Amino acid sequence: MRALILKKVCDLDYENSPLEMVEYSLPEPESNEIVIRVSCCGVCHTELDEIEGRTPPSEFPMILGHQVVGFVTDLGPSVSNFRVGSRVGVAWIFSSCGKCEYCIKGMENLCPEFKGTGRDARGGYAEYMIVHEKFAYVIPGIFSDAEAAPLLCAGAIGYRSLQLTNLTNGQTLGLSGFGASGHLVLKMTRYLYGDSKIIVFARNKHEQDFAKNLGAVWAGEIDDTPPYKADAIIDTTPVWNTIVKSLGHLKAGGRLVINAIRKESADKNKLLDLSYHDHLWMEREIKSVANITRHDVEEFLQLAAKIPIKPEIEIYPFAQANQALHDLKHKHVQGAKVLVMDS
Ligand SMILES: [Zn+2]
Ligand SMILES: [Zn+2]
Repeated sequence: MRALILKKVCDLDYENSPLEMVEYSLPEPESNEIVIRVSCCGVCHTELDEIEGRTPPSEFPMILGHQVVGFVTDLGPSVSNFRVGSRVGVAWIFSSCGKCEYCIKGMENLCPEFKGTGRDARGGYAEYMIVHEKFAYVIPGIFSDAEAAPLLCAGAIGYRSLQLTNLTNGQTLGLSGFGASGHLVLKMTRYLYGDSKIIVFARNKHEQDFAKNLGAVWAGEIDDTPPYKADAIIDTTPVWNTIVKSLGHLKAGGRLVINAIRKESADKNKLLDLSYHDHLWMEREIKSVANITRHDVEEFLQLAAKIPIKPEIEIYPFAQANQALHDLKHKHVQGAKVLVMDS
């Protein structure tokens, strides 16, 4: 099979192409493993973090990609949930131990042996991938393969972030950053909490207009003063500054949820800008979102089909993965990038 591999951590700039197309032989599936012929794979900011070393792969070479949609082509001898031909998705959670205190409580996202698809195990930037059937999901029929891909990460992790805000209907939600996850969170919030106001902090006018078109009551920059303080804010940006600024936009008792696997520059000067009185006093709190559970993915896919949420997507051929990654880093285009395998 053909696969795109990452051989080492490097800076992603327009001069280099970190992913290399190679021929790989696919192992036989064992016990509960399924083989998936990949139809498409979403491109996520986490891939930038992996390539540039903020959350590096646990071994090299690695096949990246954790928003995988495809069809089952082969089964291990003990598989019971799927058949050959089933359409399935794979998300960021590749596996967890199943035995620790977190796994037992359904908090497998916090398992010390958590494995991320495409970071700790081979992912979907390839013609085929293998995964345990417990970590594959049926994709609701309403979605095309390419539409489903971004739901598996940006959508499902956005859903987890929204739950962690503890928002109730009528309360004001702030979104700091308005990329693939932000626009999906806005759509699900409008459905789940119809009386809530949504305010959006985005870096450019294009994203701010996009947010207003989708129903945000206000959109501006993180340094602006919105008309309302927020009961909760979800920060999806990779930068440090938005943590401090977002805390200042919260009401008393408000909660900031940070949905970012790594923050790019926690430099000391910015850290010093955190004022206890301006940013934390009055029971404001900070919570990070770590990974994802199977339950999050399953529940969100059902919700997305019901609303329905169809993500804005931008298609790239599989062979142009490097270009898609460059564009994700340098260009600010709305919607989610999806690699489509050529048949
Ligand atoms: Zn992702
Ligand atoms: Zn565990």
